[in-house]
Amino acid sequence: MTGARPPLPEVRPAALEVVRTTLPLLTPFATATGTEVVREVLLVRARDEEGHEGWGECGALSQPGYTGEWVHGADAVLRRFLLPAASEGRPAGVAGHPMAAAAVEAALLDLRLAVAATDLPSWLGAVRDRVPAGVAVGVGPSVDALLAEVADHVAAGYRRMKLKVRPGWDVEPVRAVRAAWPDLPVGIDANGSYRAGDDALTALDGLGLVEIEQPLPADDLLGSAGLARRLATPVCLDESVTSVATLESALALGALDHLNLKPARVGGLASALAVLDRARDAGVPVWVGGMLATGVGKAVDVALAALPGVTLPGDLPASRRWFARDLTEPWELLPDGTLPVRPRGPVTLP
Ligand code: MG
Repeated sequence: MTGARPPLPEVRPAALEVVRTTLPLLTPFATATGTEVVREVLLVRARDEEGHEGWGECGALSQPGYTGEWVHGADAVLRRFLLPAASEGRPAGVAGHPMAAAAVEAALLDLRLAVAATDLPSWLGAVRDRVPAGVAVGVGPSVDALLAEVADHVAAGYRRMKLKVRPGWDVEPVRAVRAAWPDLPVGIDANGSYRAGDDALTALDGLGLVEIEQPLPADDLLGSAGLARRLATPVCLDESVTSVATLESALALGALDHLNLKPARVGGLASALAVLDRARDAGVPVWVGGMLATGVGKAVDVALAALPGVTLPGDLPASRRWFARDLTEPWELLPDGTLPVRPRGPVTLP
């Protein structure tokens, strides 16, 4: 167990609303479905009659390429279903949409923490005051550009590199990074883009990687189990694990060696804590992954990463990895390659 937490006051929000803004990305982030150049930020704000405020950030990206959720769909389901239900204190009964649901849960929890005059790391029981920072690097456009980008991140002090791969952008770029930094912990993330028999997986297995994340499609747990047996490189699951129940299935099949835990993907912090407890009981090393989060979402991710059971460095970069100006006090990389675990502080919209 990650521990019993002190009870918080029940708070009925006087106002619960969607807040939208955009932040330009300092570096475009290329994925298999397209390139993100602007973060379309989707927030939920909860307020009470006394002027307390709570904020939650929705992790959904501009395109439905990571999971089926995307920012405009999440916006619609929030306005039409999730926020009216939460305002009335009743279950929404909505299937799916875990990232939208997570934003509502986060805003309501944040409001309760504000009323109780406490903060998330303290309430959760964080056991670390800093967490190791890692960074993810998108696909393409060229091996030289990739090496230059990795060099910048290494110089900035990041302790772990995660390279996005897909068929056609895999062995050559990954081999080049391994050759340039033989001792740097490097993992790769395929976002489900391979099939179990692909030769590239065997070639990647020989490159001394810390893990291969989500090599096969999210619903192919059986295939992932076969791959986990065949590869020497640990298999990490991301998109496949959406709940404690899917984690149970993955554990029973032997489909994972590591787990990337994202509150957004599993429907919020309560679910993330349950998943973390189960992974910890099973002895599966866990790290916390991010979703191009502003300081609002990062505050939740960093607090979660400070709990017992999170044992691997995650992709939790400093604010300036993506944004010239964050919505909160920026998260800065400390000289030892970590991020501080601290309360989020005020939210300021551009
Ligand atoms: Mg991933």
